[in-house]
Parts: sequence; structure tokens; C-alpha cells
Amino acid sequence: MIARLAFLVLALSLASMSAQSATGDSFAAFVAGLQPEAAKQGITPATFDAAFAGLASDPNVLAAMRHAPEYGKPFGPYLASLASPSRIAVGLRKSAQWAATLQAVEQKFGVDASVLVSIWGVESSFGDGEQHWDVFRSLATLAAARFQHPLFRDELLSALQILQRGRIPRGEFVGSWAGAMGQPQFLPSSYLKYAVDFDGDGKVDIWHSVPDVLASIANYLQKSGWQPRLPWGFEVVLPPGFDYRTSRGTFAEWTKRHVSRADGGALPPTGSAILFFPSGAAGPAFLVTDNFVVLKRFNNSDAYALAVAELADRLRGLPAFRSAWPADDFQPSRDERIALQRRLAALGYKVTDFDGHFDFDLRDAVRDLQRRYGMIPDGYPSRAFLDRAGVH
Ligand code: CA
Repeated sequence: MIARLAFLVLALSLASMSAQSATGDSFAAFVAGLQPEAAKQGITPATFDAAFAGLASDPNVLAAMRHAPEYGKPFGPYLASLASPSRIAVGLRKSAQWAATLQAVEQKFGVDASVLVSIWGVESSFGDGEQHWDVFRSLATLAAARFQHPLFRDELLSALQILQRGRIPRGEFVGSWAGAMGQPQFLPSSYLKYAVDFDGDGKVDIWHSVPDVLASIANYLQKSGWQPRLPWGFEVVLPPGFDYRTSRGTFAEWTKRHVSRADGGALPPTGSAILFFPSGAAGPAFLVTDNFVVLKRFNNSDAYALAVAELADRLRGLPAFRSAWPADDFQPSRDERIALQRRLAALGYKVTDFDGHFDFDLRDAVRDLQRRYGMIPDGYPSRAFLDRAGVH
């Protein structure tokens, strides 16, 4: 949930927030302006009124947005806070308690139980960390403040669809201050696309039904391309004299290159993986698969995906990551990430995201540039690299 909030906050940081945007007048004007579009999408006046009657802008939502955690936090403390001993202990207890349900969900959707429990734990501490902000009020406050951008406006329209279909009573629309709902922290559009009824009571209840929560997370991952029986990846150890220009290959090729698992286990005989240095060549190294990329579709952050991966490993009885994270782990801010994306595009590299989300193609572009600069090509945008590339 922390990462999800950070993502949403950063999505908002481009907004030109002004004091005026939070006033009652602009909120009322925003809601009035939304009605014709809602009507076009089949939202009845009764539904619209049920959603917005008596609603005012929420100053606490705007305050929460301003005080949300920074993007660009060091990996070590972030992972330690999410894959913590207490979350591992509760996760093991929940895994045992819901073993039969998890087995049924895993069988239907092909997603490992440990990954489902991990996401459940990271998003809402297994339902204990759920919040109770009014979803319509939160989304409308954010949408009104960011009128130019469609994200929260679109989510608000999705929330109206859910209400219109009678899927959830108005009073049960509660979530985080940023409108993420229930134990899996789904935004309304994700609820519409991925939430499912798994306990068979006819209600898609991601707030109270653990079977619905687990199956909805599994459905999200399956629909996002999760491959059954493919591990997310492994922490690895590189041989002396390793050629850092190499970033991709099959597991068989990585084995031939003498790259080995940090826990001493064997790499799988099939499948392929990307070599990933979250904090540079001096920090931990990982081989990650397409399923790691699917975890990022749940929340587009390498730190989030790695935290979910580590917690899932621990729930399966695997050891913690072994290499220490650098004490002075630099991670670029969102503004620096966007500036780097623009710089790489200007230099002729293919860049598909200018919102500050890194994918592995972008890290390969960084590798190429590092090689040209005579730096270790590890795909990690260090402070020195950003300075050398003229990114500020
Ligand atoms: Ca249900």
C-alpha cells in the first residue's frame, strides 16, 4: 500500500495544486461538470446523487497527498519495512489459516499462494491496515484538484459504474485517502476489471471476504500475464570478471556464464531472465523473469515488486536476501527519472514512459550509455551517471 500511495502521489505531483482548487466552489463546479459525462455513460441521476449528495472537498485528502512518502527511497529500508519479521510471521499464520482457499485459488488462476499472501500483506497488512476514507469524496477531491488530468476523474466514473450496478452499497465505498479500495487496494477501475466472487455469496466483496480478496489479486495477476510455475526470479552471485554488458538470457545461458543463486539452489532448466542491479553493481544482484514484470503491473515500481518477491520467498521458507544494500543507496527522484527519460529519448534511445517509471529496456539504454562513458554498465542510474549524462 505504501508503494501504491507513493505512485498515486507522484502521479499527482505534476498537478498544479492551488489553494483555489481545494475550495468548495471549485469542488461543486467539478461535480456539476462531471454529471453530463456520467449521464453519457449511463449513470442515472439517482446514482449520481447517491454518490455526491452533501459531499464536500476533503482537506485531509489534500494534506495526506502533500505529506505522502517520497519516491526514490533507498531499497534496503523500504524492503525491510514491507518484508518485516512481523509481516512474515502473520503471513505464515494467514497462509495456514487459509490453506484450503489458497490451494483452490492457486489451482484456478495459476498464481503461487505465497505471492497472493505477500501482496495481501503488503497492500493492507492482511486486512488490518485497511482505511476508511470515503472513496467518492477522496476521488472527487483529487479529481477536482487535478482537473486537467483524467486519472482520478476516470476512477470516479468507474466508481459510479460500480454503484450504478448495485455491486456495493454507497456506505461501503471506503478505502485509502487516494481511493484504493479494500484489502487488495484496488482502484475502482481495477475492481471492475479484476475483482471476483470466490466464496460464492454472489457479492464481490474485497473489503470483508478473504476468498474474494485472494481470488481478485490472483485474477489481476493472471489477466496481467502471470505464467504458472515460473519463479519471479532469484538473488544471484556473479563470477569474478563478469561482463556487465550482458543483461539478458535464458537460465541455461546464465548458468553457463557462471551466474549462480545466492542461496545455493539451482537455476531452473527453462525460462529466461534479466539481470537487475537495483542499487548498482556494488549492491545486491537479481535475475528476474517476466513474472517480476507482472508484479510491476500491480504497482509500477521495482522496489514494490522486489518487496513482494522477498516476502513471498520468506513465506515459502526461503532465506532473506543475502547481500547488504549500500548504506548510501541513491535512488533518483521522480523529477530526475523523468529528466533521464527525456535525455535518453533526445539521445535516440527508445523510451515509452515519460512518467518516471523505469522498465528494463530503459535500464539497458542506461547500460549502453554507461559503456560509452567508461562506467560499469549495470543499468543503475547513479548520481555520478546522472551528472555525466547532464540530468538534473
Ligand atoms: Ca463473495
